[in-house]
Amino acid sequence: MENFYIRANRVFTPIRKYAFVYTLLVAFAGLWYPRLGLSVLLVILSLVTLSFFKGRYWCGNFCAHGSLFDSALFRWSRNIKIPEFFRSPIFAWLFLAYFSYNIGNGLIRVSALWGTPMFYDRLGFVFVRSYLMVTIVGGSLALLISPRTWCNFCPMGMMQKGSYWLGKTLGVVKKTDEKITVANQDMCHTCGKCSRVCPMQLTPYLDFSDENQVDDINCIRCSTCVENCPAGVLTLSSAVEAKEIYDKTSIEGYEERKHIITTVASIKDLNVDVKEFTFTFKIPEIVSYKPGQFILVRIQEHPEMYRAFSISSYNKNSQSLSVTIKRMPNGYGSDIIFDTFKEGDVIHLEGPMGHELVVDKTQEKVLLVAGGIGITPFVAIVEDLVKDPHQVQEFTLIYGVNKEQEFIYRDVFEKFEHMSPRFKFVPVVAFDDQWTGEKGFVTDVLNQLNLDDSKLYMCGPKPMTDATLRSLDKSDFKRENIYYESA
Ligand SMILES: Cc1cc2nc3c(=O)[nH]c(=O)nc-3n(C[C@H](O)[C@H](O)[C@H](O)COP(=O)(O)OP(=O)(O)OC[C@H]3O[C@@H](n4cnc5c(N)ncnc54)[C@H](O)[C@@H]3O)c2cc1C
Ligand code: SF4
Ligand code: SF4
Repeated sequence: MENFYIRANRVFTPIRKYAFVYTLLVAFAGLWYPRLGLSVLLVILSLVTLSFFKGRYWCGNFCAHGSLFDSALFRWSRNIKIPEFFRSPIFAWLFLAYFSYNIGNGLIRVSALWGTPMFYDRLGFVFVRSYLMVTIVGGSLALLISPRTWCNFCPMGMMQKGSYWLGKTLGVVKKTDEKITVANQDMCHTCGKCSRVCPMQLTPYLDFSDENQVDDINCIRCSTCVENCPAGVLTLSSAVEAKEIYDKTSIEGYEERKHIITTVASIKDLNVDVKEFTFTFKIPEIVSYKPGQFILVRIQEHPEMYRAFSISSYNKNSQSLSVTIKRMPNGYGSDIIFDTFKEGDVIHLEGPMGHELVVDKTQEKVLLVAGGIGITPFVAIVEDLVKDPHQVQEFTLIYGVNKEQEFIYRDVFEKFEHMSPRFKFVPVVAFDDQWTGEKGFVTDVLNQLNLDDSKLYMCGPKPMTDATLRSLDKSDFKRENIYYESA
């Protein structure tokens, strides 16, 4: 589980980035100017009011301690699994009782000073002390375990849960309560990335309700899962919006998704860190798929988790398929696949799915753009186009890598180029002085081409797809003619 939790960006607004300054101000400057602690009363009032309508929204969006953990301390955190002990409701209740007793005691003692000049200083100091305690204890847990360990038993979090419960009971949260929402569960890759980036270490993808929402009361509505979902199917939405999203989401390309039991027929080395895995279907024995679609490969059963891979084989007889996988440095799923999958193993798949890279063959001209491991879907796509001479009349594949030795399937594409005058193959290398062909990035080649009347299909690492989109935006090429997936 070492590489399970991912250090993904959790800070999306200036408030979340800099709110921790307030914590440090109250906790440390408050030692000399205790009246700063009085401002905490306003914070408590705000969070209790907000949570009445929106659950723990405050924790994920405004909390100054949350900002300290996620923005200031995250980079130094071990970011490991939070022990069940800290997550248990019993511990949270006991801690709330202890905290309330301490604060209550402090307030009773201060009340004796009512009317004296000392009163406000002493009252402020009660909160300064509690902020200092949270900063030290919460900060230490953030560094030693995971940034939001404290938030699992935070007394302010408990108060918000109580206020939210009241709001729900009175029926006032229906329109205001935004929860994590999946557009359609069939489109979820079951990859668990939402869980791996979640500061509260929840498992949103395993907890979708029939209304396609996550009801977990500990969700702090921080949107980290939304930002990191590779399928782009998550939003933070109200129940009404969830229904609208479901109604207007097309599941084209996902209708045939099914569970498939297979055996590993072969594993081929294509490069130092790239292997081609071929699976033979067992149950069902026949599965049809289209060039450009992807499949989910199960990497573990508990909790169930898959990885998405473009299908790199051309569908000859619907009895098997291949995927081509690059081992990511410290990659959780690719490590499991490379280290444990053997020929003859029984492996579970889900799919086929996806439509973004299924080429519109009524088109005269098609451009295919691949970067690095993003080449995989184009092996089947190019074979399909070459074998269908009556459709697309002109198609070009631009395939970019950093160094020449990173090319895979180059011989396959060169063979197709010889077979069909309709197909042009342009390999391009970014950083390799020995390379005598096209040099630079795929965008450099694209800029030299006449793209008129083309449809463009692209797959590659996100920085490449983003750079290409930016470059195409500067030309007249219309976004509606661009289809892409980030691998
Ligand atoms: C539609 C689709 C098609 C795809 N097709 C292919 C394909 O054909 N071939 C292929 O190889 N891949 C493909 N992918 C990508 C694939 O699904 C996986 O995302 C990929 O294999 C990495 O998974 P992983 O679990 O090994 O890596 P992860 O553990 O998810 O890591 C991903 C990256 O994050 C980094 N990382 C992980 N943990 C941390 C941490 N704690 N701190 C900082 N950084 C960290 C890793 O170094 C790595 O670079 C596709 C993805 C999609 C969505
Ligand atoms: S489920 Fe999503 S929004 Fe909720 S706490 Fe986890 S990452 Fe944040
Ligand atoms: S696709 Fe992955 S990250 Fe997105 S909801 Fe599904 S399991 Fe979570």
